[in-house]
Amino acid sequence: MKWPKLRELKEALTSLVKGPYTHPFPARPTPIPDNLRGKPEYDPEHCVGCGACAEVCPARAIEVSEAVHSDGRRVRRLVLHWDVCIFCGECERCCTTGQGIRLSSKYELSGFSRAEMVESVEKEIIACELCGRGIAPRDHLRWIQRRLGPLAWSNVTLTLFSHQELGLRAAPPRDERPLNRSDIQRLLCPACRRSVTLLDEWGPL
Ligand code: SF4
Ligand code: SF4
Repeated sequence: MKWPKLRELKEALTSLVKGPYTHPFPARPTPIPDNLRGKPEYDPEHCVGCGACAEVCPARAIEVSEAVHSDGRRVRRLVLHWDVCIFCGECERCCTTGQGIRLSSKYELSGFSRAEMVESVEKEIIACELCGRGIAPRDHLRWIQRRLGPLAWSNVTLTLFSHQELGLRAAPPRDERPLNRSDIQRLLCPACRRSVTLLDEWGPL
């Protein structure tokens, strides 16, 4: 007959008096430490849809795409796959607004399919009035305006955007005509802004 090792015997006797070392999960929830890095969650109120969190994510867990809804609204969609996430906290640390995404204390993340292990946020995008491509999310432009204060008026895009927000300007209909100098007074993506500026400076090439 083998005698139990003294170390195990001591542990068995201690647990008889003090109770088991392990937590009685799932009968009772496990106590959560204050600094636990659990499931990342977007806060749609504070996220501006800039996409910086996707840029810094080392696991490439955040997907950024654009979509057009049936009512014509163009949106940027950020989808965070928490089955890929490594809970490093970089997205929270580098968030542009500082409050757009938080690592919550949720740690029970099992599921039946990968498709349900996602966290997402959607932001309406302002489209270029010439090519139709997205310029930036509306909330991101508003956030930049607030940060810049009066300096925002030195930027053509932000000035035109402000006029539109105040109801002082309506987006002109898109047409297929060639560029002309007056297009400088339109809401443009960086590529179209560059083309119109070159046209204004150098004339037709
Ligand atoms: S505001 Fe923060 S959470 Fe939202 S897209 Fe930008 S970096 Fe990500
Ligand atoms: S916690 Fe880390 S891995 Fe997870 S989404 Fe944020 S940056 Fe990516």
